[in-house]
Amino acid sequence: MTLSTRELLADVARRAADFVDSLPERPVGLPVQVDAMRAELPAALPEAGADPAAVIAQLDALAARGVVATAGPRFFGFVVGGTLPVAVAADWLTSTWDQNAGLYVLSPANAICEEVAGGWLRQLFGLPAAASVGFVTGCQAANFSALAAARHALLERAGWDVEARGLFGAPEIEVLVGDEAHVTIHTALQMLGLGRDRVHRVAVDGQGRMRPDALAAALAPLAGRPILVCAQAGNINTGAFDPLAAIAEVVRPHGAWLHVDGAFGLWAAASPQLAGHVAGLERADSWATDAHKWLNAPYDSGLVFCAHPAAHRAALSATASYLIQTEGAERDPFEWTPEFSRRARGFAVWAALASLGRQGVAAMIERGVAMAQRFAARLGAAPGVEVLNEVVLNQVLLRFAPPGGGDAAATDAWTRETIRRVQEDGTCWLSGTTWRGRAAMRISVSNWSTREADVDRSVAAILAAARPPAG
Ligand SMILES: *Cc1c(COP(=O)(O)O)cnc(C)c1O
Repeated sequence: MTLSTRELLADVARRAADFVDSLPERPVGLPVQVDAMRAELPAALPEAGADPAAVIAQLDALAARGVVATAGPRFFGFVVGGTLPVAVAADWLTSTWDQNAGLYVLSPANAICEEVAGGWLRQLFGLPAAASVGFVTGCQAANFSALAAARHALLERAGWDVEARGLFGAPEIEVLVGDEAHVTIHTALQMLGLGRDRVHRVAVDGQGRMRPDALAAALAPLAGRPILVCAQAGNINTGAFDPLAAIAEVVRPHGAWLHVDGAFGLWAAASPQLAGHVAGLERADSWATDAHKWLNAPYDSGLVFCAHPAAHRAALSATASYLIQTEGAERDPFEWTPEFSRRARGFAVWAALASLGRQGVAAMIERGVAMAQRFAARLGAAPGVEVLNEVVLNQVLLRFAPPGGGDAAATDAWTRETIRRVQEDGTCWLSGTTWRGRAAMRISVSNWSTREADVDRSVAAILAAARPPAG
């Protein structure tokens, strides 16, 4: 029996609520076989369609085995974030409204949400009031957009219109990145024709922070050239922050463009307790961050800010004359993103911020840091466990010596084995990384719902994996 649209949506609401209810107790990462997953869905496109309710039931059955509980309180892999209930709700409505957010005239409500939420975010992060903002898919797209603006501005100053003429024959831009820059900085450079391998990599310290003295030394022979410097707030391994004030100081005499990748670390600026880590942030030219990580908005949602709105807009939009260009104050969102037609991401971001307020955002970020520090304190107190990083944000790096002790290679192997056992156990999920040539377990706290009890349960599961009973 075919359900009415109202009944179909009610059925989905029930399924979604069941999923949310299951999150606190469901195994976080389920072992799945790719062949078994494939077998559930016929490879051949059916000739005749199926009933929508049956299609949804089939998807939901697939999801029961094949979605990872990243939305739950004990997912600590990568830096993923969950979703605030209010943001899920806003996102449901966004799908239902089916807005094309590119143009103001297609969705005045979204354009206003972006304008307002963009202003709130500038205030939260302490960015210049005149900075432009784009609501993009994620921090990869945000880094791309910001570096496109940089490319425009640097070449414009050198008398070259890169959007019109391309890079063939253009003056060369010198690009400097910290040795610990996120891979998406390199991808952005690759996509922009600035080259992944021709960058100057600047030395970092033991926590992965760019060294201002090394930056100054790298800049010295480049004086007078167009220069782009990419700094980072929040290292994906250690959580460490490049010293932005010192970097801004070093960069200034060179007239360089300073970009800050702060996918999750930028959120430190929203907390009075943590804002010291990003002192000097406002002196950069562009900033990239995510809403789908630590703001706990649904995927996909990233944000780019630029202190030079004209460069931002020139880099990303070629005005098409058939478009209805609104005069005056209305803002066309497409001018600030690489996309043209796109999802109305402004609703969920606005809803998340409206429901949290300034204090709620700060509390959420501070709680994440407190949870990471709790992990570090409890695990670090156990024999054979070493905390490798200064836990200044939400990231904890750990190594596990084998029960009988052993050398560095044995500790590498036991650390990997412990990670494998934790993943198999399913109480929580985390993954491994390599830090300074050594295997490490990486714990990242970025879910709004993670509480002390989740940390303590996870600590017990991790220690049980690292210290199996003898025999
Ligand atoms: C996650 C991350 C990115 C990329 O962000 P996406 O949202 O995955 O595109 C960039 N930089 C840093 C530091 C990150 O942690």
